[in-house]
Amino acid sequence: MEKFNGVIVKHFDYMESSLILHVYTIEGMKSVLVRGGKKFKSPFLGAQNTMSFVEFHASGKAMMTAKEMTLLDSFPGIRSSVEKTTYASHMLELIEHFADGGIDHKKAFPFLVKILAKIDVETEYIPYVNMFESKLLYLLGVNPHFRECVVCQSHDHLSFSIQEGGMICDDHPHANNEYSHQCVELFEFLYYYDLQHPSSIETDHETLAELRHLLDAYYWYHLQIKTKSRTVLEGFLGY
Ligand SMILES: [Zn+2]
Repeated sequence: MEKFNGVIVKHFDYMESSLILHVYTIEGMKSVLVRGGKKFKSPFLGAQNTMSFVEFHASGKAMMTAKEMTLLDSFPGIRSSVEKTTYASHMLELIEHFADGGIDHKKAFPFLVKILAKIDVETEYIPYVNMFESKLLYLLGVNPHFRECVVCQSHDHLSFSIQEGGMICDDHPHANNEYSHQCVELFEFLYYYDLQHPSSIETDHETLAELRHLLDAYYWYHLQIKTKSRTVLEGFLGY
């Protein structure tokens, strides 16, 4: 019997009455079979939903079978908002997509749980989604460089370049000042933000919308991904 905590990223019907859960854990993705999970009288109802943070007792090797599941957090504040749910689904899609890509799960898993807890309770929660995306770039090895020109290490006349993966000065072809100073400053602030020693996050709608575009472009250029949830968000946000 193995005991572990995980966030349910996806679930599938299996056979007549069972479910298979894809669970993100501190060791990466695991598949867990829940016998009778589809039945109304399943003892695990509530604990087997997507996005739930759950403690599992499970047995088996390649495919584990759940023996006990305890709901640690269902994130009710996320579930009650379609927009929060879509942002959280965007994060889960990113995690699932990159889980086998060599990220450090010991860092990524507790971070994901902390960010979900923040989104759950905060009204101004979008910076926490952006913080997750920013720090995930570091875990994926395509982190942006903010402190100096990535080409010549100059500190003057810098602007952010998606292609170069950071700041570059006016002397280079990709310099175009496409992103505002406020947007790049917020990106850097969230990238370095320490959740252990939180400070207030001050921003506005316009800057967040611009950062949304920057992150989308960065993920597309360096990782070739746009999530389905991001496409759904376009419907709500209009961008
Ligand atoms: Zn330079």
